[in-house]
Amino acid sequence: MKPQVIIIGRPNVGKSTLFNRLIGKRLALVDDQPGVTRDRRSGDAEIAGLQFTVVDTAGWEDEDPETLPGRMRSQTEVSLEGADAALFVVDARSGLTPLDGEIGRWLRSQEVPIVPVANKAEGRQGEAGVLEAYSLGFGEPIAVSAEHGEGIADLFGALWPIIGAKAEAAEAQPEADESDDEAPLGPLKLAIVGRPNAGKSTLINRLLGEERLLTGPEAGITRDSIAIDWQWNDPKSGEAREIRLIDTAGMRKKRNVVDKLEKLSVADARRAVDFAEVVVLLLDATQGLEHQDLKIASMVLEEGRALIVAINKWDVAGEAGTEDASSLFNGIKAALNDGLAQVRGLPVLAVSARTGKGLDTMLRAAFEIRESWSKRVPTAALNRWFDDALEANPPPAPKGKRIKLRYITQVGTRPPRFVVFGSRLDALPTSYERYLVNGIRDKLGFDAVPVRVTLKSSK
Ligand code: GDP
Ligand code: GDP
Repeated sequence: MKPQVIIIGRPNVGKSTLFNRLIGKRLALVDDQPGVTRDRRSGDAEIAGLQFTVVDTAGWEDEDPETLPGRMRSQTEVSLEGADAALFVVDARSGLTPLDGEIGRWLRSQEVPIVPVANKAEGRQGEAGVLEAYSLGFGEPIAVSAEHGEGIADLFGALWPIIGAKAEAAEAQPEADESDDEAPLGPLKLAIVGRPNAGKSTLINRLLGEERLLTGPEAGITRDSIAIDWQWNDPKSGEAREIRLIDTAGMRKKRNVVDKLEKLSVADARRAVDFAEVVVLLLDATQGLEHQDLKIASMVLEEGRALIVAINKWDVAGEAGTEDASSLFNGIKAALNDGLAQVRGLPVLAVSARTGKGLDTMLRAAFEIRESWSKRVPTAALNRWFDDALEANPPPAPKGKRIKLRYITQVGTRPPRFVVFGSRLDALPTSYERYLVNGIRDKLGFDAVPVRVTLKSSK
Protein backbone atom coordinates (compact mmCIF):
# COMPACT_ATOMS: atom_id res chain seq x y z
CA MET A 1 0.00 0.00 0.00
CA LYS A 2 1.23 3.42 -0.94
CA PRO A 3 1.39 6.00 1.85
CA GLN A 4 -1.56 8.31 2.06
CA VAL A 5 -1.28 12.06 2.41
CA ILE A 6 -4.32 14.09 3.24
CA ILE A 7 -4.78 17.77 2.44
CA ILE A 8 -6.58 19.76 5.11
CA GLY A 9 -7.44 23.40 5.40
CA ARG A 10 -10.20 25.94 5.43
CA PRO A 11 -11.94 26.82 2.16
CA ASN A 12 -10.15 28.73 -0.55
CA VAL A 13 -6.59 28.27 0.67
CA GLY A 14 -5.78 26.29 -2.47
CA LYS A 15 -6.28 22.66 -1.47
CA SER A 16 -7.72 21.62 -4.82
CA THR A 17 -5.01 23.47 -6.66
CA LEU A 18 -2.38 21.68 -4.60
CA PHE A 19 -4.15 18.37 -5.14
CA ASN A 20 -4.07 18.94 -8.89
CA ARG A 21 -0.45 19.94 -8.76
CA LEU A 22 0.46 16.77 -6.92
CA ILE A 23 -1.42 14.41 -9.20
CA GLY A 24 -0.17 16.32 -12.21
CA LYS A 25 -3.57 16.88 -13.74
CA ARG A 26 -6.05 19.66 -14.10
CA LEU A 27 -8.84 17.59 -12.80
CA ALA A 28 -10.38 19.02 -9.71
CA LEU A 29 -12.81 21.82 -9.71
CA VAL A 30 -11.12 25.03 -8.68
CA ASP A 31 -13.15 28.10 -8.00
CA ASP A 32 -12.78 31.50 -6.48
CA GLN A 33 -15.97 30.97 -4.59
CA PRO A 34 -15.38 29.46 -1.18
CA GLY A 35 -17.15 26.22 -0.59
CA VAL A 36 -17.23 24.91 -4.15
CA THR A 37 -15.69 21.73 -2.99
CA ARG A 38 -16.94 18.70 -3.76
CA ASP A 39 -16.59 15.25 -2.51
CA ARG A 40 -13.50 13.78 -1.05
CA ARG A 41 -11.24 12.80 -3.87
CA SER A 42 -8.01 10.91 -4.02
CA GLY A 43 -5.39 10.43 -6.67
CA ASP A 44 -1.93 9.08 -7.37
CA ALA A 45 0.66 11.70 -6.60
CA GLU A 46 4.35 11.82 -7.28
CA ILE A 47 7.02 14.28 -6.31
CA ALA A 48 10.29 13.39 -7.97
CA GLY A 49 9.89 9.66 -7.61
CA LEU A 50 8.23 9.71 -4.20
CA GLN A 51 4.86 8.09 -4.82
CA PHE A 52 1.84 8.40 -2.60
CA THR A 53 -1.91 8.68 -2.61
CA VAL A 54 -3.16 12.18 -1.99
CA VAL A 55 -6.60 12.89 -0.57
CA ASP A 56 -8.35 16.20 -0.93
CA THR A 57 -10.80 16.60 1.93
CA ALA A 58 -14.25 17.97 1.66
CA GLY A 59 -12.96 20.93 3.59
CA TRP A 60 -14.43 22.76 6.49
CA GLU A 61 -17.01 24.81 4.74
CA ASP A 62 -20.53 25.39 5.86
CA GLU A 63 -23.01 28.22 5.69
CA ASP A 64 -20.69 30.12 7.93
CA PRO A 65 -17.13 29.38 6.78
CA GLU A 66 -15.64 30.69 10.02
CA THR A 67 -17.06 27.96 12.15
CA LEU A 68 -15.91 24.41 12.40
CA PRO A 69 -18.82 22.35 11.26
CA GLY A 70 -19.11 19.00 12.94
CA ARG A 71 -20.34 17.26 9.85
CA MET A 72 -17.22 18.05 7.84
CA ARG A 73 -15.07 17.42 10.78
CA SER A 74 -16.26 13.87 11.16
CA GLN A 75 -15.68 13.25 7.49
CA THR A 76 -12.15 14.54 7.72
CA GLU A 77 -11.61 12.49 10.81
CA VAL A 78 -12.44 9.39 8.81
CA SER A 79 -9.86 10.36 6.20
CA LEU A 80 -7.28 11.01 8.86
CA GLU A 81 -7.56 7.49 10.15
CA GLY A 82 -5.87 6.00 7.11
CA ALA A 83 -3.47 8.88 6.56
CA ASP A 84 0.30 8.72 6.98
CA ALA A 85 0.74 12.48 6.85
CA ALA A 86 -1.45 15.56 6.66
CA LEU A 87 -0.69 18.75 4.77
CA PHE A 88 -2.23 21.57 6.76
CA VAL A 89 -2.69 24.30 4.18
CA VAL A 90 -3.08 27.98 5.00
CA ASP A 91 -3.20 31.02 2.76
CA ALA A 92 0.05 32.98 3.09
CA ARG A 93 -1.50 36.02 1.43
CA SER A 94 -4.58 36.46 3.47
CA GLY A 95 -2.83 35.52 6.69
CA LEU A 96 -4.22 33.31 9.40
CA THR A 97 -7.89 33.36 10.32
CA PRO A 98 -9.63 32.12 13.46
CA LEU A 99 -10.73 29.05 11.52
CA ASP A 100 -7.10 28.20 10.77
CA GLY A 101 -6.42 28.36 14.49
CA GLU A 102 -9.37 26.15 15.22
CA ILE A 103 -8.36 23.54 12.66
CA GLY A 104 -4.83 23.68 14.02
CA ARG A 105 -5.95 23.04 17.57
CA TRP A 106 -8.04 20.13 16.44
CA LEU A 107 -5.17 18.69 14.35
CA ARG A 108 -2.86 18.81 17.34
CA SER A 109 -5.10 16.30 19.07
CA GLN A 110 -4.66 13.89 16.16
CA GLU A 111 -1.88 11.36 15.85
CA VAL A 112 -0.99 11.87 12.23
CA PRO A 113 2.22 13.83 11.46
CA ILE A 114 1.35 17.33 10.25
CA VAL A 115 3.24 19.29 7.61
CA PRO A 116 2.26 22.98 7.71
CA VAL A 117 2.01 24.42 4.20
CA ALA A 118 1.77 28.15 3.45
CA ASN A 119 0.28 28.39 -0.03
CA LYS A 120 0.11 31.27 -2.51
CA ALA A 121 3.69 32.21 -1.65
CA GLU A 122 4.90 32.66 -5.23
CA GLY A 123 7.59 35.20 -5.77
CA ARG A 124 8.20 36.88 -2.48
CA GLN A 125 4.58 37.51 -1.82
CA GLY A 126 3.17 36.07 1.31
CA GLU A 127 6.44 36.19 3.23
CA ALA A 128 4.70 37.66 6.23
CA GLY A 129 2.03 35.00 5.99
CA VAL A 130 4.64 32.26 5.93
CA LEU A 131 6.21 33.63 9.10
CA GLU A 132 2.81 33.94 10.71
CA ALA A 133 2.17 30.26 9.97
CA TYR A 134 4.92 29.40 12.46
CA SER A 135 2.47 30.36 15.15
CA LEU A 136 0.35 27.35 14.28
CA GLY A 137 2.91 25.37 16.25
CA PHE A 138 3.73 22.67 13.71
CA GLY A 139 7.27 23.78 12.99
CA GLU A 140 8.64 25.38 9.87
CA PRO A 141 5.94 26.03 7.31
CA ILE A 142 6.68 24.95 3.78
CA ALA A 143 6.19 27.94 1.51
CA VAL A 144 4.63 26.81 -1.77
CA SER A 145 2.71 28.11 -4.69
CA ALA A 146 0.35 25.37 -5.77
CA GLU A 147 -0.64 27.42 -8.74
CA HIS A 148 2.88 28.09 -9.99
CA GLY A 149 4.49 24.87 -8.83
CA GLU A 150 6.96 26.54 -6.50
CA GLY A 151 8.23 24.96 -3.31
CA ILE A 152 7.22 21.46 -4.33
CA ALA A 153 10.75 20.18 -3.79
CA ASP A 154 10.65 21.48 -0.22
CA LEU A 155 7.42 19.64 0.21
CA PHE A 156 9.25 16.52 -0.90
CA GLY A 157 11.89 17.27 1.72
CA ALA A 158 9.27 17.54 4.43
CA LEU A 159 7.29 14.49 3.36
CA TRP A 160 10.12 12.17 2.60
CA PRO A 161 11.26 11.57 6.20
CA ILE A 162 7.66 10.79 7.12
CA ILE A 163 6.46 8.60 4.29
CA GLY A 164 9.64 7.69 2.37
CA ALA A 165 10.10 4.29 3.92
CA LYS A 166 6.52 3.25 3.32
CA ALA A 167 6.63 4.55 -0.25
CA GLU A 168 9.69 2.46 -0.93
CA ALA A 169 8.17 -0.64 0.56
CA ALA A 170 5.12 -0.13 -1.63
CA GLU A 171 7.31 0.37 -4.66
CA ALA A 172 9.17 -2.82 -3.97
CA GLN A 173 5.94 -4.80 -4.26
CA PRO A 174 5.51 -5.38 -7.96
CA GLU A 175 1.73 -5.70 -7.86
CA ALA A 176 1.40 -2.35 -6.17
CA ASP A 177 2.82 -0.53 -9.15
CA GLU A 178 2.09 -1.06 -12.80
CA SER A 179 4.67 1.33 -14.16
CA ASP A 180 6.94 -0.41 -16.65
CA ASP A 181 9.84 0.22 -14.29
CA GLU A 182 8.75 -2.61 -12.13
CA ALA A 183 7.54 -4.94 -14.86
CA PRO A 184 9.52 -8.15 -15.12
CA LEU A 185 12.15 -7.92 -17.80
CA GLY A 186 10.93 -9.69 -20.94
CA PRO A 187 13.08 -11.06 -23.73
CA LEU A 188 16.36 -9.22 -23.98
CA LYS A 189 16.05 -6.79 -26.86
CA LEU A 190 19.44 -6.89 -28.43
CA ALA A 191 20.85 -5.13 -31.47
CA ILE A 192 24.17 -5.70 -33.16
CA VAL A 193 25.60 -2.68 -34.87
CA GLY A 194 28.89 -1.77 -36.44
CA ARG A 195 30.63 -0.71 -39.57
CA PRO A 196 30.19 -2.71 -42.78
CA ASN A 197 32.25 -5.89 -42.77
CA ALA A 198 32.68 -5.92 -39.02
CA GLY A 199 30.99 -9.31 -39.13
CA LYS A 200 27.42 -8.59 -38.05
CA SER A 201 25.77 -11.03 -40.44
CA THR A 202 28.25 -13.74 -39.62
CA LEU A 203 27.64 -13.17 -35.94
CA ILE A 204 23.88 -13.34 -36.24
CA ASN A 205 24.06 -16.46 -38.35
CA ARG A 206 26.38 -18.01 -35.88
CA LEU A 207 24.10 -17.25 -32.95
CA LEU A 208 20.96 -18.44 -34.69
CA GLY A 209 22.59 -21.38 -36.41
CA GLU A 210 23.72 -22.85 -33.15
CA GLU A 211 20.39 -22.21 -31.67
CA ARG A 212 18.67 -24.00 -34.52
CA LEU A 213 20.56 -27.09 -33.69
CA LEU A 214 19.49 -26.74 -30.14
CA THR A 215 15.87 -25.87 -30.63
CA GLY A 216 14.95 -27.65 -33.85
CA PRO A 217 13.33 -26.47 -37.06
CA GLU A 218 10.06 -25.45 -35.37
CA ALA A 219 11.65 -22.63 -33.46
CA GLY A 220 9.90 -20.03 -35.55
CA ILE A 221 12.96 -18.25 -36.70
CA THR A 222 12.29 -16.12 -39.71
CA ARG A 223 15.40 -14.95 -41.40
CA ASP A 224 13.83 -11.99 -43.13
CA SER A 225 12.02 -10.57 -40.21
CA ILE A 226 13.57 -7.64 -38.48
CA ALA A 227 13.08 -8.95 -34.97
CA ILE A 228 14.11 -12.52 -34.37
CA ASP A 229 12.97 -14.22 -31.18
CA TRP A 230 15.08 -17.04 -30.01
CA GLN A 231 16.27 -18.83 -26.95
CA TRP A 232 19.81 -18.90 -25.79
CA ASN A 233 20.91 -21.62 -23.44
CA ASP A 234 23.51 -20.28 -21.11
CA PRO A 235 26.00 -23.15 -20.88
CA LYS A 236 27.26 -21.85 -17.55
CA SER A 237 23.97 -21.78 -15.66
CA GLY A 238 22.04 -24.13 -17.91
CA GLU A 239 19.34 -21.49 -18.06
CA ALA A 240 17.28 -20.92 -21.19
CA ARG A 241 16.95 -17.19 -21.82
CA GLU A 242 14.85 -15.36 -24.33
CA ILE A 243 16.40 -12.93 -26.73
CA ARG A 244 14.82 -10.74 -29.34
CA LEU A 245 17.49 -9.93 -31.83
CA ILE A 246 17.17 -6.86 -33.96
CA ASP A 247 18.64 -7.75 -37.30
CA THR A 248 20.05 -4.50 -38.61
CA ALA A 249 22.50 -6.25 -40.88
CA GLY A 250 19.59 -7.69 -42.74
CA MET A 251 17.98 -4.31 -43.07
CA ARG A 252 21.13 -2.88 -44.51
CA LYS A 253 21.55 -5.62 -47.08
CA LYS A 254 17.98 -5.29 -48.25
CA ARG A 255 18.37 -1.64 -48.94
CA ASN A 256 21.33 -2.60 -51.05
CA VAL A 257 23.20 0.65 -50.86
CA VAL A 258 26.87 0.41 -51.58
CA ASP A 259 28.08 3.96 -51.26
CA LYS A 260 27.68 6.30 -48.34
CA LEU A 261 28.57 3.34 -46.20
CA GLU A 262 29.62 5.51 -43.32
CA LYS A 263 26.33 7.30 -43.14
CA LEU A 264 24.50 4.06 -43.49
CA SER A 265 25.95 2.22 -40.54
CA VAL A 266 25.11 5.14 -38.28
CA ALA A 267 21.59 5.19 -39.66
CA ASP A 268 21.27 1.44 -39.05
CA ALA A 269 22.47 1.85 -35.53
CA ARG A 270 20.05 4.67 -34.94
CA ARG A 271 17.18 2.51 -36.11
CA ALA A 272 18.37 -0.37 -33.97
CA VAL A 273 18.51 1.59 -30.77
CA ASP A 274 14.86 2.47 -31.20
CA PHE A 275 14.12 -1.18 -30.53
CA ALA A 276 16.98 -2.33 -28.39
CA GLU A 277 17.68 -2.35 -24.68
CA VAL A 278 21.25 -3.45 -25.13
CA VAL A 279 23.37 -2.68 -28.17
CA VAL A 280 26.48 -4.64 -29.11
CA LEU A 281 28.92 -2.57 -31.11
CA LEU A 282 30.92 -4.99 -33.20
CA LEU A 283 34.46 -3.93 -34.09
CA ASP A 284 36.79 -5.55 -36.57
CA ALA A 285 40.02 -6.47 -34.78
CA THR A 286 41.93 -6.36 -38.04
CA GLN A 287 40.88 -2.73 -38.55
CA GLY A 288 41.13 -1.39 -35.03
CA LEU A 289 38.95 1.35 -33.62
CA GLU A 290 37.93 4.11 -36.00
CA HIS A 291 36.24 7.43 -35.61
CA GLN A 292 33.10 5.96 -37.08
CA ASP A 293 32.93 3.35 -34.30
CA LEU A 294 33.13 6.04 -31.65
CA LYS A 295 30.39 7.94 -33.41
CA ILE A 296 28.08 4.93 -33.31
CA ALA A 297 28.94 4.25 -29.67
CA SER A 298 28.26 7.86 -28.67
CA MET A 299 24.94 7.81 -30.41
CA VAL A 300 23.91 4.62 -28.63
CA LEU A 301 24.78 6.15 -25.27
CA GLU A 302 23.13 9.45 -26.07
CA GLU A 303 19.98 7.51 -26.80
CA GLY A 304 20.33 6.09 -23.32
CA ARG A 305 20.94 2.49 -24.32
CA ALA A 306 23.24 0.05 -22.59
CA LEU A 307 26.32 -0.62 -24.70
CA ILE A 308 28.72 -3.52 -25.06
CA VAL A 309 31.73 -3.52 -27.35
CA ALA A 310 32.74 -6.81 -28.95
CA ILE A 311 36.00 -6.97 -30.86
CA ASN A 312 35.36 -9.49 -33.62
CA LYS A 313 37.67 -11.68 -35.71
CA TRP A 314 39.76 -12.43 -32.69
CA ASP A 315 40.59 -15.77 -34.30
CA VAL A 316 42.80 -13.77 -36.68
CA ALA A 317 43.98 -10.99 -34.38
CA GLY A 318 44.84 -13.39 -31.60
CA GLU A 319 47.07 -15.39 -33.95
CA ALA A 320 49.72 -12.70 -33.97
CA GLY A 321 50.77 -13.79 -30.51
CA THR A 322 49.57 -13.01 -27.03
CA GLU A 323 51.56 -9.85 -26.53
CA ASP A 324 50.37 -8.17 -29.69
CA ALA A 325 46.87 -9.35 -29.03
CA SER A 326 46.75 -7.92 -25.55
CA SER A 327 48.24 -4.61 -26.60
CA LEU A 328 45.67 -4.42 -29.39
CA PHE A 329 42.91 -5.19 -26.90
CA ASN A 330 44.11 -2.70 -24.30
CA GLY A 331 44.69 -0.06 -26.93
CA ILE A 332 41.10 -0.32 -28.13
CA LYS A 333 39.80 -0.30 -24.59
CA ALA A 334 41.77 2.82 -23.68
CA ALA A 335 40.67 4.61 -26.84
CA LEU A 336 37.04 3.79 -26.03
CA ASN A 337 37.36 5.13 -22.51
CA ASP A 338 39.00 8.31 -23.77
CA GLY A 339 36.46 8.78 -26.52
CA LEU A 340 33.33 8.08 -24.51
CA ALA A 341 32.97 10.38 -21.54
CA GLN A 342 29.39 9.17 -20.98
CA VAL A 343 30.34 5.88 -19.34
CA ARG A 344 33.09 4.20 -17.46
CA GLY A 345 34.08 0.59 -17.39
CA LEU A 346 32.36 -0.25 -20.66
CA PRO A 347 32.33 -4.03 -21.18
CA VAL A 348 34.80 -4.83 -23.94
CA LEU A 349 35.07 -8.42 -25.10
CA ALA A 350 37.03 -10.34 -27.67
CA VAL A 351 34.88 -12.58 -29.85
CA SER A 352 34.98 -14.55 -33.04
CA ALA A 353 31.80 -14.81 -35.03
CA ARG A 354 33.52 -17.44 -37.13
CA THR A 355 34.49 -19.83 -34.37
CA GLY A 356 31.89 -18.80 -31.84
CA LYS A 357 34.49 -17.96 -29.24
CA GLY A 358 33.40 -15.44 -26.61
CA LEU A 359 29.78 -15.31 -27.73
CA ASP A 360 28.29 -16.85 -24.59
CA THR A 361 30.28 -14.41 -22.48
CA MET A 362 29.00 -11.60 -24.65
CA LEU A 363 25.37 -12.61 -24.18
CA ARG A 364 25.86 -13.07 -20.46
CA ALA A 365 27.31 -9.56 -20.29
CA ALA A 366 24.32 -8.25 -22.22
CA PHE A 367 21.87 -9.69 -19.69
CA GLU A 368 23.96 -8.36 -16.84
CA ILE A 369 24.19 -4.83 -18.14
CA ARG A 370 20.45 -4.80 -18.72
CA GLU A 371 20.03 -5.44 -15.00
CA SER A 372 21.90 -2.31 -13.96
CA TRP A 373 20.31 -0.33 -16.75
CA SER A 374 16.90 -1.24 -15.26
CA LYS A 375 17.88 -0.92 -11.62
CA ARG A 376 16.29 1.39 -9.07
CA VAL A 377 18.26 2.56 -6.04
CA PRO A 378 16.12 3.01 -2.92
CA THR A 379 15.79 6.69 -2.01
CA ALA A 380 17.29 6.10 1.43
CA ALA A 381 20.47 4.52 0.06
CA LEU A 382 20.66 7.18 -2.60
CA ASN A 383 20.48 10.03 -0.11
CA ARG A 384 22.94 8.34 2.19
CA TRP A 385 25.42 8.29 -0.64
CA PHE A 386 24.49 11.88 -1.55
CA ASP A 387 25.11 13.18 1.98
CA ASP A 388 28.48 11.42 2.08
CA ALA A 389 29.44 12.79 -1.31
CA LEU A 390 28.59 16.37 -0.27
CA GLU A 391 30.46 15.98 2.96
CA ALA A 392 33.55 14.56 1.31
CA ASN A 393 33.58 17.33 -1.26
CA PRO A 394 31.21 20.23 -0.48
CA PRO A 395 29.89 22.28 -3.39
CA PRO A 396 31.87 25.48 -3.95
CA ALA A 397 30.83 28.93 -2.77
CA PRO A 398 31.31 31.24 -5.74
CA LYS A 399 31.44 34.89 -4.63
CA GLY A 400 31.11 33.74 -1.07
CA LYS A 401 27.61 32.38 -1.52
CA ARG A 402 27.16 28.71 -0.92
CA ILE A 403 25.44 26.53 -3.50
CA LYS A 404 22.91 24.39 -1.71
CA LEU A 405 22.25 20.84 -2.83
CA ARG A 406 19.33 19.35 -0.95
CA TYR A 407 18.13 15.98 -2.16
CA ILE A 408 18.56 13.49 -4.90
CA THR A 409 15.96 11.13 -6.24
CA GLN A 410 15.88 8.55 -8.98
CA VAL A 411 13.06 9.50 -11.29
CA GLY A 412 13.45 6.71 -13.79
CA THR A 413 15.17 3.62 -15.08
CA ARG A 414 16.20 2.30 -18.50
CA PRO A 415 18.31 4.37 -18.49
CA PRO A 416 18.70 5.41 -14.85
CA ARG A 417 17.66 9.04 -14.40
CA PHE A 418 18.19 11.22 -11.35
CA VAL A 419 17.13 14.67 -10.22
CA VAL A 420 19.17 16.75 -7.78
CA PHE A 421 17.34 19.55 -6.00
CA GLY A 422 19.10 22.64 -4.79
CA SER A 423 19.51 26.36 -5.11
CA ARG A 424 21.91 28.64 -7.00
CA LEU A 425 22.42 25.75 -9.39
CA ASP A 426 23.37 28.02 -12.27
CA ALA A 427 26.62 28.65 -10.44
CA LEU A 428 27.40 24.95 -10.00
CA PRO A 429 30.54 24.13 -12.00
CA THR A 430 30.27 21.29 -14.49
CA SER A 431 33.20 19.65 -12.76
CA TYR A 432 31.00 19.27 -9.70
CA GLU A 433 28.19 17.81 -11.77
CA ARG A 434 30.71 15.32 -13.11
CA TYR A 435 31.77 14.52 -9.60
CA LEU A 436 28.18 13.60 -8.74
CA VAL A 437 27.62 11.60 -11.92
CA ASN A 438 30.84 9.67 -11.37
CA GLY A 439 29.82 8.99 -7.80
CA ILE A 440 26.49 7.57 -8.94
CA ARG A 441 28.29 5.33 -11.38
CA ASP A 442 31.04 4.14 -9.07
CA LYS A 443 29.25 3.92 -5.76
CA LEU A 444 25.77 2.89 -6.76
CA GLY A 445 26.60 0.29 -9.36
CA PHE A 446 25.80 2.04 -12.62
CA ASP A 447 29.26 1.59 -14.02
CA ALA A 448 28.80 0.93 -17.67
CA VAL A 449 25.35 2.35 -18.34
CA PRO A 450 24.52 5.89 -19.37
CA VAL A 451 23.26 7.84 -16.37
CA ARG A 452 21.19 11.02 -16.62
CA VAL A 453 21.33 13.65 -13.93
CA THR A 454 19.18 16.78 -14.00
CA LEU A 455 19.53 19.71 -11.63
CA LYS A 456 16.33 21.30 -10.42
CA SER A 457 16.04 24.51 -8.55
CA SER A 458 13.98 24.14 -5.41
CA LYS A 459 13.87 27.89 -4.64
P1 GDP B 1 -9.67 25.11 -1.86
O1 GDP B 1 -11.01 25.63 -1.60
O2 GDP B 1 -8.80 25.15 -0.64
O3 GDP B 1 -9.63 23.78 -2.54
O4 GDP B 1 -8.96 26.17 -2.84
P2 GDP B 1 -8.82 26.16 -4.42
O5 GDP B 1 -7.80 25.20 -4.84
O6 GDP B 1 -10.19 26.03 -5.01
O7 GDP B 1 -8.23 27.61 -4.65
C1 GDP B 1 -8.88 28.77 -4.21
C2 GDP B 1 -8.39 29.96 -5.00
O8 GDP B 1 -7.01 30.21 -4.71
C3 GDP B 1 -8.47 29.76 -6.50
O9 GDP B 1 -8.85 30.99 -7.09
C4 GDP B 1 -7.05 29.43 -6.89
O10 GDP B 1 -6.77 29.80 -8.20
C5 GDP B 1 -6.26 30.25 -5.89
N1 GDP B 1 -4.94 29.67 -5.64
C6 GDP B 1 -4.65 28.40 -5.36
N2 GDP B 1 -3.31 28.23 -5.20
C7 GDP B 1 -2.77 29.44 -5.41
C8 GDP B 1 -1.41 29.93 -5.39
O11 GDP B 1 -0.44 29.20 -5.20
N3 GDP B 1 -1.24 31.25 -5.61
C9 GDP B 1 -2.28 32.08 -5.87
N4 GDP B 1 -2.01 33.36 -6.08
N5 GDP B 1 -3.55 31.65 -5.91
C10 GDP B 1 -3.81 30.36 -5.67
P1 GDP C 1 28.75 -7.26 -41.91
O1 GDP C 1 28.91 -6.39 -43.08
O2 GDP C 1 29.05 -6.52 -40.63
O3 GDP C 1 27.46 -7.98 -41.82
O4 GDP C 1 29.92 -8.34 -42.01
P2 GDP C 1 29.87 -9.83 -42.53
O5 GDP C 1 29.23 -10.71 -41.54
O6 GDP C 1 29.34 -9.84 -43.92
O7 GDP C 1 31.42 -10.20 -42.53
C1 GDP C 1 32.38 -9.49 -43.29
C2 GDP C 1 33.59 -10.38 -43.55
O8 GDP C 1 34.26 -10.69 -42.34
C3 GDP C 1 33.20 -11.73 -44.14
O9 GDP C 1 34.16 -12.08 -45.09
C4 GDP C 1 33.26 -12.67 -42.96
O10 GDP C 1 33.56 -14.00 -43.35
C5 GDP C 1 34.38 -12.10 -42.15
N1 GDP C 1 34.22 -12.41 -40.73
C6 GDP C 1 33.13 -12.21 -39.96
N2 GDP C 1 33.35 -12.61 -38.70
C7 GDP C 1 34.62 -13.10 -38.67
C8 GDP C 1 35.45 -13.68 -37.64
O11 GDP C 1 35.07 -13.84 -36.47
N3 GDP C 1 36.71 -14.06 -37.99
C9 GDP C 1 37.18 -13.89 -39.24
N4 GDP C 1 38.41 -14.29 -39.48
N5 GDP C 1 36.43 -13.36 -40.23
C10 GDP C 1 35.17 -12.97 -39.96
